[in-house]
Amino acid sequence: MGGVGLELHRFHHIPEGLLEVSVDALDTVLPGPSLIYLKGQKETPLFVSTLLHGNETTGFYAMQRLLKKYQQKQTPLPRSLLLFVGNVSAAVKGVRHLPEQRDYNRIWSGGSSAEHRLAAEVVDAATSYSLFATIDIHNNTGKNPLYGCINSLEPAYKQLATLFSQTIVYFVTPSEVFSMAFAKYCPSVTIECGQSGVDENTSYLSQYIDLCLNKEGFEKASSLIKTPYDLYHTVARVKLPPECTLGFGSKEIDKDISFIKTIDDLNFSDLQAGALIGWCHNDEMRLSVIDEDGRERGSEYFSYADGEIRTVKPIIPSMFTKDIEVIHQDCLGYMMERME
Ligand SMILES: [Zn+2]
Repeated sequence: MGGVGLELHRFHHIPEGLLEVSVDALDTVLPGPSLIYLKGQKETPLFVSTLLHGNETTGFYAMQRLLKKYQQKQTPLPRSLLLFVGNVSAAVKGVRHLPEQRDYNRIWSGGSSAEHRLAAEVVDAATSYSLFATIDIHNNTGKNPLYGCINSLEPAYKQLATLFSQTIVYFVTPSEVFSMAFAKYCPSVTIECGQSGVDENTSYLSQYIDLCLNKEGFEKASSLIKTPYDLYHTVARVKLPPECTLGFGSKEIDKDISFIKTIDDLNFSDLQAGALIGWCHNDEMRLSVIDEDGRERGSEYFSYADGEIRTVKPIIPSMFTKDIEVIHQDCLGYMMERME
């Protein structure tokens, strides 16, 4: 970081060993962040982004599977492909990002760090092509369904997401994410492909990417989208004070805040007002709920009577996690409402 440059490596072929390497040895094949262009039958490329978070590997393994399939069939790709392999050094270590690095999915709306400049270079390089669509692939730490996130409600964006899952989340913050930067240019989606470290959905994901490579175009009207879908809107993010000690279960009375043990089973479920989510043993500590405009809304969402943390109004949680490091580094999760 700081003054040190971060070089973007560019390829116009599949780098030697890429389709066989495991993520923990990725630096033996790619010297760093890499943009790989592969020419296909249809000119306008599908742009796929993987490993922006080094421990979220399903996207990389799905692309290996897909490219091997076309290599074995000895047929060209049905459409040109741009593949961005993001945080190679974090991927080798199996972490979201290295301590001295910025989060690679928070660098896409401008800034002066080495990572910001790398992101700007990727945007410049990718948008020099007329892009067909972009797909940025992630995993998450809590129990969540497979879903796609979009930053525009245009029919094409919804359709790109519904090809992957009937569950769609619309959000506009955080705004520094990859999908937001590319939503200006073409249909764009962030894929949340199950828990990190499991990679159980690799085959399904590679079929989805294949489907997108074979697609001629997208619908111009929502009414033409054939798949039924559930559309949610992220309205707030739940954070905790950095000094707050955390636990799970009713017995953790030495912790400032202890959540119910099944907190991540609540993801994508409708919580009524008054639902118990945990216990607070230190009245100085409160959950912070930040809305899309950056305002603190905690007291509208949670009450603390008798040391019990309960919801004040109906909400739908997403990405609630039991990983205490992730809660402190990022957040507990998000609050959603249903749309349409
Ligand atoms: Zn991620």
